[in-house]
Amino acid sequence: MPPENQTSKRWFMAYTVLARRYRSQRFEDIAGQDAISHTIKNAILSERVAHAYLFCGTRGVGKTTMARVLAKALNCQSVDAPTTDPCCECESCVAINSGDDIDVIEIDGASNNGVENIRDLRQNAMYRPARGRYKIYIIDEIHMLSTGAFNALLKILEEPPAHVKFIFATTEPNKVLPTIQSRCQRFDFRSIDPQTIQQQVKMVLESEGIGCEDDFAVALSRLANGSMRDALSLLDQVLSTGEKNLTLEVLENTLGEPGRAEISRMTELMGDSDAPEVLKVCDELLKKGMSPEQVTDSLIDSFRDLMITASAGAKNSLIVQTAAEAEQTERIAAKFDIASLVYAVTTLERMRGAVKKSDNPRAILEAALIRLTLSEHFINVQTLARQMAGGGGGKKNSAMQGKPAGARKPSLKKAFAEKSSAGEKLEEAENVRCENLEELKARWEDVVRETAKVNMSLGANLSNAEPESFENGNLVLLAKTGITGRLLQAKAQDAEKVFSKILGASVAVKVKQQETSGEPANKPKGAKSSLKDQKQAMKDPGVQKILNTFNAQIIGISRPKNQ
Ligand SMILES: [Zn+2]
Repeated sequence: MPPENQTSKRWFMAYTVLARRYRSQRFEDIAGQDAISHTIKNAILSERVAHAYLFCGTRGVGKTTMARVLAKALNCQSVDAPTTDPCCECESCVAINSGDDIDVIEIDGASNNGVENIRDLRQNAMYRPARGRYKIYIIDEIHMLSTGAFNALLKILEEPPAHVKFIFATTEPNKVLPTIQSRCQRFDFRSIDPQTIQQQVKMVLESEGIGCEDDFAVALSRLANGSMRDALSLLDQVLSTGEKNLTLEVLENTLGEPGRAEISRMTELMGDSDAPEVLKVCDELLKKGMSPEQVTDSLIDSFRDLMITASAGAKNSLIVQTAAEAEQTERIAAKFDIASLVYAVTTLERMRGAVKKSDNPRAILEAALIRLTLSEHFINVQTLARQMAGGGGGKKNSAMQGKPAGARKPSLKKAFAEKSSAGEKLEEAENVRCENLEELKARWEDVVRETAKVNMSLGANLSNAEPESFENGNLVLLAKTGITGRLLQAKAQDAEKVFSKILGASVAVKVKQQETSGEPANKPKGAKSSLKDQKQAMKDPGVQKILNTFNAQIIGISRPKNQ
């Protein structure tokens, strides 16, 4: 036998052992389905057990386990009547546990889906149970039955013998005939939340005498995606390596999450507006064997995490991530405003269908990546102030209401964000043609942005200055604060180089400092701002943060028209 087969066989055997050893035996042990356990126990206590149940839910959430516990509860021989606490030791309980009791018949609906199978069942059901109180049929994947089989089943459901109980399980309830559904009591099993899976994983490992890091349990619960059976199966694969102390590293080495690191890096590069690198990482992922559709799905998940982090903060229970991952998500989320994260999620979701149908899915994916990398939304000032003040709650809404003024223009915030690719290249700056002072003033924001592409700190300083005069290649800058003046003075030569590129002609730069006494010279006309108003505004934590972050000062105060 080739070694791969031996390995997979060993895994398979380990899985069988673990799954058996840790299958829940009692209602109380079934993780994550407390409400259903509670209702069924009440039905047993009040002697109102239905004659047919329909258990719905994705795989590995406890449907079969619940069915077996219910069967034991109905047929346990250690008591005279159905009980909420089966002994798990009598002949019936033991046989039901191993799935070979004569009165509890488990049928796989996928392989026994013909009308003749159900006819056999009907004939067999007429006979009284051999040992227990009830004859119990557990039919898994009931939605796989043929129409003929469903109709045959319907006949016995219409007039079931008193000694017969049915428990149907399905992952696709919408495919079960409504006439069948209406004769069953239906329970919808929910996906098991990551915290419950983590607890169970830790419990299992503790009884196995194996240590585990918190991060290991977190990452495993994310991989299990709401399925306890998948969690245990994955755990078996990890245990098959023989590790006695399970760390995040062990998990990544054994199971890995394909492309997780690259996807995260991709979102970061998008935040940096670095289209060439984004395409490069995408190429790496496709070469690794991920399909364009998988890349799209992973990106949607990743942007969803960023969106949640941006709206609900880094510490929230809505995202399953380790402490280090949470830190990284927070850092990347800071590169976007909420509106653009919402835009990214919706754009990718819309594009998903196109990728799936297209003959050239890669081109569609790449087009979307470039679109998302190059398009951004300006965040409006009110929203920024609110966000910086740390105001929760309405943050997301306010971001959505704020009109993205000048969408598709790279924002200053983004231009100032640190670039991961160390590319301080003059070539990156685009030409901004200005013939005279008026034009330069009008396009000053563009000049600052292009400067920031080449020299981040110079751009930041320039945003706190403005051109005072510009003729014959001589530019005089007016710095708004003393510190900006000194900084710009020191960088005058750098500024000359960059401006010569941006303005397309040789430029000499002089720096002047604004007079400190009195009102700022460039106070906008009509903006009424008394000293009292300014003091009031300075008290606002959001305003304070903006002033500090951008090294800004208040030059005028005006109130939004609609407030
Ligand atoms: Zn028993």
